[in-house]
Amino acid sequence: MLINNSQCYYLFEEERLDSFKTWVFDDKQACNKFALAAAGFYKCKPGDAKSDDCACFFCGKTLSDWDPVDDPFKEHASHSPQCKFITLGRPQSELKMKELVQLCQLWCENKLNKAMEMENERRQRLFTQMNANIDSKLYK
Ligand SMILES: [Zn+2]
Repeated sequence: MLINNSQCYYLFEEERLDSFKTWVFDDKQACNKFALAAAGFYKCKPGDAKSDDCACFFCGKTLSDWDPVDDPFKEHASHSPQCKFITLGRPQSELKMKELVQLCQLWCENKLNKAMEMENERRQRLFTQMNANIDSKLYK
């Protein structure tokens, strides 16, 4: 099921911040949980205190092996310059409502397209399998 109210998509900064129950650096370091959440990242394994795998809610880019002095926004921009969230150039709190709505619409569109692609691939596999079964019965 695509739409599920109980599922967290890390679309909003507050949700992303919640994923950093533990983080490898303290809040005084440049690479802190607030800067990461503001730069679009959520922690991939919230329950794993030693993991520093983070992913962008929008483009899906995963980064790890962070340094305490890393600027999450700059790291995001250098590893995924085409990310729509990054091209806006500001954290969620500084976006205009229109920009935030457009970002959400684009995010939904991307999720739906991905789901449709996966469904089409599943149907193609099923179709190929059914044809192979029919062929094997017809041409014994
Ligand atoms: Zn991104």
